[in-house]
Amino acid sequence: MQYTILIVEDETDISKLLVKILETAGYQTNQAFSGTEAKLLLEKEMPDLILLDLMLPGMAGDKLLYEIREKMNCNVPILVLSAKSALNDKVTLLNMGADDYITKPFEPEEVLARIQAALRHIGKRADKRPVLSYKKLKLYPESRKVMVNNTELVLTAHEYDLLHLFLQTPEKVYSRENLYELVWKGGYYGENNTVNVHVSNLRKKIKEADPIEEYIQTVYGIGFKLG
Ligand code: CA
Repeated sequence: MQYTILIVEDETDISKLLVKILETAGYQTNQAFSGTEAKLLLEKEMPDLILLDLMLPGMAGDKLLYEIREKMNCNVPILVLSAKSALNDKVTLLNMGADDYITKPFEPEEVLARIQAALRHIGKRADKRPVLSYKKLKLYPESRKVMVNNTELVLTAHEYDLLHLFLQTPEKVYSRENLYELVWKGGYYGENNTVNVHVSNLRKKIKEADPIEEYIQTVYGIGFKLG
């Protein structure tokens, strides 16, 4: 089964960009350009997840959120999209039943990471994408299984998420702050060593299965990437 995501966004450029990001990652998409259009679509068919802009013509995003949760009594994951300035009421949004929020402008990786996290929370498997592989490593997104040299690695959730991120964007160099935001989902990074420790543990586990090849590269002064 492929996941379907409804994008409720009136700005066509942003909507188009989201379609591109999501379809590249293997999701199916539907678009609604107003709150009322979204409501009509939802009455016909419920997607697996909704990306919901707040400032919408017809029916505002928060009103639609209320309709979905209270009137339709539906617990589909909803990620709110909003400009930073309009997000001073995060707590209210979360209390109203939004699962998470993404501030505009957004990074494609952030959108994908938050969608995967939200889908995981409802107990569904995160995606239907093909197996990702690099050198002797294979990652199976549907079962969250990682094999190296035909040995299955026993990874923590954070180690898996880090590895998944590297494999999804093989060319990208991630800063530690970046990784912390995406994998640990925000909070203040500060001086802590969390990312280094997890990357180092991940490397050790991979090395036990494949002592020869390197899989995660340290980019001096910046962070990490696949390689
Ligand atoms: Ca808007």
